[in-house]
Amino acid sequence: PDKGQPLLSVEAATKRFKGLVAVNEVSFHVKSGEMVGLIGPNGAGKSTMFNLMTGTLQLSSGRTEFMGENITRRSQRDIALMGMARTFQHVKLRPQMSVLDNVALGAHARGQCGMLRAGFNLDTEEERRIHAEARRQIARIGLEGQEMEAAGNMPLGTQRLIEIARALAADPVLLILDEPAAGLRKAEKQALADLLSRLRKEGVTIMIVEHDMDFVMKLVDRLIVMNFGTKLFEGDPQAARADLGVREAYLGH
Ligand code: ADP
Ligand code: MG
Repeated sequence: PDKGQPLLSVEAATKRFKGLVAVNEVSFHVKSGEMVGLIGPNGAGKSTMFNLMTGTLQLSSGRTEFMGENITRRSQRDIALMGMARTFQHVKLRPQMSVLDNVALGAHARGQCGMLRAGFNLDTEEERRIHAEARRQIARIGLEGQEMEAAGNMPLGTQRLIEIARALAADPVLLILDEPAAGLRKAEKQALADLLSRLRKEGVTIMIVEHDMDFVMKLVDRLIVMNFGTKLFEGDPQAARADLGVREAYLGH
């Protein structure tokens, strides 16, 4: 998609869990090449919003569109194949597997043969291509030389970077990151911020959920703020900082 074209459209997305409306009629767009932040207090509905976009959860009502196609009822797998790649709030790596194999799984996610054949029966050329791609992404996060380490032995900050590398190995059209800075030490946060600004310069379209407002404000083009399932604010990061409703949502928590 051309830069500036709408890539993702969310229209009146709503998710009900029994008595709770976790996401309530939320609408927004993400354009190609943009980096958009989604922030809000704990329980605001941010992860649920991501789960609705990626097909991890089905909407109760509303509509989602990706690259001009209605994806409202599409499966997580179909949406991933279309080019939406994500990380999770709680790191989901395979701890016993090597860094290389974890990242290679991302490339498999969009490869012709898909996850089912990951690790089995791959013709060697496809396997070589996938491993080369995985190594390229590992270099991008500064972990060259550590490809064969078990992912579970790495510090949390590194595991989060590995998750991003795995998502990037799928060559995503849209990269979705759920609290990538959570639990990171200062130096790890800085490494993550550097990676994200590099990706942004390269024109990767990114949507990022982050609890740490200061961290995300420096990075993004636009901020969406949620509170109690609704969209409280959308616009310039600086304007968000000045917005009374946003300040109240954060201070009142
Ligand atoms: P955030 O990511 O902004 O912290 P979540 O999207 O995780 O918020 O959660 C929003 C609300 O929905 C919370 O009250 C949470 O307890 C609730 N919730 C999230 N997932 C589920 C679920 N699978 N079943 C029931 N309630 C859920
Ligand atoms: Mg969350």
